Amino acid sequence: MRFPGAHILSVTQFERADVERIFEVADNMRPYAHRERMTKVLDGAIMGNMFFEPSTRTRVSFGCAFNLLGGEVRETTDIKASSLTKGESLYDTGRVMSGYSDIIVMRHPQAGSVAEFARASRVPVLNAGDGPNEHPSQALLDLYTIKKELKSRQQTIDGMHIAMIGDLKHGRTVHSLSKLVGLYEKVKFTLISPAELAMPADTVDALRQRGHEVVETEDMEKGLVSNDIVYLTRIQEERFGSKTEADLYRGRFRLNQAIYTQYCQPNTVIMHPLPRDSREDANELDNDLNQHPSLAIFRQTDNGVLVRMALFALTLDVCEQIDKSSREVNWYTERRF
Ligand code: ASP
Repeated sequence: MRFPGAHILSVTQFERADVERIFEVADNMRPYAHRERMTKVLDGAIMGNMFFEPSTRTRVSFGCAFNLLGGEVRETTDIKASSLTKGESLYDTGRVMSGYSDIIVMRHPQAGSVAEFARASRVPVLNAGDGPNEHPSQALLDLYTIKKELKSRQQTIDGMHIAMIGDLKHGRTVHSLSKLVGLYEKVKFTLISPAELAMPADTVDALRQRGHEVVETEDMEKGLVSNDIVYLTRIQEERFGSKTEADLYRGRFRLNQAIYTQYCQPNTVIMHPLPRDSREDANELDNDLNQHPSLAIFRQTDNGVLVRMALFALTLDVCEQIDKSSREVNWYTERRF
């Protein structure tokens, strides 16, 4: 695909070569994200960070990524404080906001809403999550992390075994991630969820059509055996009719040290898009795995900055100019990455 000026709305826009290009640019962002060097390549540029659904990581890491490239960030975070509550259409909001920014990042609770907004926008729009539909930047950072973790084990994405666990019906991260992994070869997917919360059938069919093996099961213990990656998700309570309905599934699948030791291969990578639901009745990923070397959840969050910097650099077409304004940082930076 041609990146300059493009909206990033769905992972279905990408070919494998596009994903590899994003990863290559993300690798080049490492010294900047790790505070070894700084760049002002986006000096003067404005990013509109519009979040109409709760978010910590995605909102802050998109903002941080833009700042690290030298740009300014303007936040709109409360749907009640925006004119959308006065009946304004997403189209009008998109047309107006694109006059105030050079690029827009948007999250909204309705599937398809970010695409609707983008149709009116005169600047690139990056989908930061549209309801249960898609979360492209999360899938990219997840796959980038998978690639790095497997590489350190002399393995590749092609041929890997991945288990996805939890609310696969409403979880947009697993929707985007499985489509993205689908671009690779000969992957085995084990999809572990209550039958009512299974991965959408069209996504499963598309994976099978591309030659991947897909096993769907409600038996977590059997499903955990022989995976390179286990990717847990929380019950997406906000997408159920009621809390009582979500409670039926909460805590159904949990990974902790004892279960990991009993069923997983010794170095299976543990991932989660976060937030993990650490309340006692849920606790899908236990704190007793926090010191485990294969727990990659905080490497995922660090990698998110690199990947989001890459998306800005590609869509605003500055990849070749980044090093021109590069210099050492002049404040104290303890090694933290
Ligand atoms: N943070 C992720 C998302 O926005 C996962 C989650 O909320 O469970 O979809």
